[in-house]
Amino acid sequence: MFEPVIGLEVHLALRTTSKLFCGCSAEGFGARPNENVCPVCLGLPGALPVVNERAVELALRFAVALGCEVPNTTYFHRKHYFYPDAPKNYQTSQGDVPIGRHGQVALPSGKRVGITRCHLEEDAGRLVHPAYADHSLVDLNRAGAPLVEMVTEPDIRSAEEAREFLAEIRAIAQALDVSDAAPEEGKMRADVNVSVRLPGEPFGTKVEVKNLNSFKSVAAALGFEAKRQAQLLEGGRRVVQETRGWNEGGQRTYSLRSKETAADYRYLRDPDIPAVAIPDERKRAVLAAMPELPQARLGRYLADGVRGTEAAQIAYDHAVARLFDATVAAYTGPAQNVANWLTGEVAGRVNALGVSAADTKLTPAALARLVELVDGGSLSATAAKDLVPDLLEGADPAELVASRGLGQVSDVAALEALVAKAVEANPELVERVRANPKAINALLGKVMAASQGKANPDLARRLLEERLGG
Ligand SMILES: [Zn+2]
Repeated sequence: MFEPVIGLEVHLALRTTSKLFCGCSAEGFGARPNENVCPVCLGLPGALPVVNERAVELALRFAVALGCEVPNTTYFHRKHYFYPDAPKNYQTSQGDVPIGRHGQVALPSGKRVGITRCHLEEDAGRLVHPAYADHSLVDLNRAGAPLVEMVTEPDIRSAEEAREFLAEIRAIAQALDVSDAAPEEGKMRADVNVSVRLPGEPFGTKVEVKNLNSFKSVAAALGFEAKRQAQLLEGGRRVVQETRGWNEGGQRTYSLRSKETAADYRYLRDPDIPAVAIPDERKRAVLAAMPELPQARLGRYLADGVRGTEAAQIAYDHAVARLFDATVAAYTGPAQNVANWLTGEVAGRVNALGVSAADTKLTPAALARLVELVDGGSLSATAAKDLVPDLLEGADPAELVASRGLGQVSDVAALEALVAKAVEANPELVERVRANPKAINALLGKVMAASQGKANPDLARRLLEERLGG
């Protein structure tokens, strides 16, 4: 049985306002084509690049978090290739001394994945092929935007491990504020290197699949390639070393070109860009300022008594984790209750809107108050769920309860009267309950309906049981 041997290359768009070597906006979102360009990112003769200090800082943070060795001096190189969306005819990247080398990431499963290197480089532009024209258009708004690229050792052995690794990297990048790491916005892209072998045998011939834009595509492309290569070998044929693309519609890879070797790029230290010094004190400062990373956060939630499923769901989403921490700080009950609401009703409503909880006006104080109202029995869970959309609009739960008369009825005398009425009006249901105690739910439904859903259901059930038992 063949096993896949997988290495990943991940590109993350750095969270800077300007590009890697000029002052042009790195965002580009919503801008007109070729609006954010200047002589530097257009590669005009004589234009001189200036290194974006913020980009270096973010890449340094990322390298340190991945446990990489960071050199005291790092350099930029020209990586030569011709492509119509790269106006300089080379990409400014990092060659022999990247900002980080020899790191390691431990996954929640305990699996360790070696990090070969991570380096800074600039993004390319974008080609547009309009249906109306017999020519292509180029938009260079993204050309020169800063990326950090991370390359792993061939340590991954399944599509599931690859997915787990990407989730870890995304959560780390978000926790560090290094990148939005949003694949759907093109801010996290992966290339995969995959070969197959019989366990214990040397590595087979590897194939690269480029430009995978979602975790799902990565998993699907890996599954397809592992099977394709195994079938070739089983049929007595061989795997050709090449670069392949991914056809999302057909869910298959296809041959793009035979693989270039590193030498083809003729890496050359960029004579226009000075070496970047990274003194030891700077590395120590980055380490000292390191925020809590997702696995530490997960451990903290578990120690706080949050169940594994909800704890992982929250810890691996930076925006949700921040909301959770602030809500728990404003809340008096067990953290699990907040976790239930955040991963349940709130997540459901937010997902339906296609946004993140951080994009709404939901405040930690409002969410804490809502959960407390339910905990204390003065608001039913059903009524509370109906309030979540208003909370996302910034409403205060206590005010909503007062203005809409939603308060849960926990008054014993008032509930006893409703219970008495329900028992009197439904003698046939009472008979059924005497034959089968489980039928009490039908009677409880009558009490709830009579209270317009406001009766405290636990209390109403108890009073009902007392009355029928007596
Ligand atoms: Zn520019």
